[in-house]
Amino acid sequence: MEGSGLSASIKEKAIAVGFDLVGISPARSFPENQFFKVWLERGYAAEMGYMERNPARRHSVSNLEPEARSVISCALNYNTAHPHSIERTDGRKGRISRYAWGEDYHSVMEGKLTELLEFIKTVVNDKQLNSRLYVDTGPVLDRVYAKYAGIGWFGKNTCVINQQIGSWIFLGEIITSLELQCDVPPPDRCGTCTRCIDACPTGAIVEPYVLDSRLCISYLTIELRGRIPLELREGMGNHIFGCDICQDVCPWNGKAKLTREGSFEPGEAGDNPELSALARMSRDEFDDVFMNSPIKRAKRGGLLRNIMVAMGNSGDKEFVPVIREALYDGDPLVRAHAAWALWKLEGEGALEELSTVLGHDGDPLVREEIEDILRVHRSAQRS
Ligand code: SF4
Ligand code: SF4
Repeated sequence: MEGSGLSASIKEKAIAVGFDLVGISPARSFPENQFFKVWLERGYAAEMGYMERNPARRHSVSNLEPEARSVISCALNYNTAHPHSIERTDGRKGRISRYAWGEDYHSVMEGKLTELLEFIKTVVNDKQLNSRLYVDTGPVLDRVYAKYAGIGWFGKNTCVINQQIGSWIFLGEIITSLELQCDVPPPDRCGTCTRCIDACPTGAIVEPYVLDSRLCISYLTIELRGRIPLELREGMGNHIFGCDICQDVCPWNGKAKLTREGSFEPGEAGDNPELSALARMSRDEFDDVFMNSPIKRAKRGGLLRNIMVAMGNSGDKEFVPVIREALYDGDPLVRAHAAWALWKLEGEGALEELSTVLGHDGDPLVREEIEDILRVHRSAQRS
């Protein structure tokens, strides 16, 4: 089987194994690969150092896989029938990004791509065939190849948007030495819309199609390992893992179809959990609840850090007892953000307690945090 017949069979099989969309692009560099270098130079990748490794490989998949001729991009819809995060306005609960409600997508995607790859090997039956699958497992700019495979256009919110399904999709690809029939990228259908840019609470979409990760709540709550910059915390609201606002407001997601994949239904922690319950989780409980969830990436300390920020933003003094407990947590990252949350809820009334903590907590991160709080408080009083 050759060319267009083989391409059609591969696409048919991709849908049969459960993908919602599939397309093929040539294994070469595109203008967006070039822009990635500029994006890095502007510092928009923040502390995601892994993005700066292997720049030549990110430049084109042909640098990663020299024999590559085609990229088969597959997309899996993860939209379940639960409300958008913008409807989750109860400050006692935390907002979690839709993609993280259910099981970790990596294993689901890998299972389907492996099945597709086995099919290709059987049909082609060529020992020289060189094909590899990727799901965030290498320096592949998957959105670029998805665009040129016809999966969707790059929205101004930087997500790949499909006209029928919207942007709630996971992407994965098989890079292969096969010469396949390629698809064409769809037109940009954002038009004059700017809803995502206008709705972003931290101004992270610095210009259409360009995201500054340093300002993005998804980066701050998932990828950032240390203290969250003080000036960005209020904009985080009750987001405790990721942010969907720029996708929630996108009109192309208004009629998004529901997924056929049961693994993306909310797991044990649910899709809008009570902050107090999560804040009291031990390390073992965290590991148990989030073992198969994307949330494990934040680790217990990162999640509790985010929960402290959400509690501080809630204006709800019922959180004060649980925040006080967190002031003595074993993880300094949690103690530091608990100090901020206490100050946000109690204001002047928290200063004596924070000074006491400063007197006995020897961790530099906690000390730096409390000193910053005291400085900001004094300067606000002077002005
Ligand atoms: S994910 Fe949230 S913070 Fe990031 S760009 Fe979108 S709306 Fe802004
Ligand atoms: S909200 Fe509007 S501008 Fe933003 S990605 Fe969607 S269609 Fe494009």
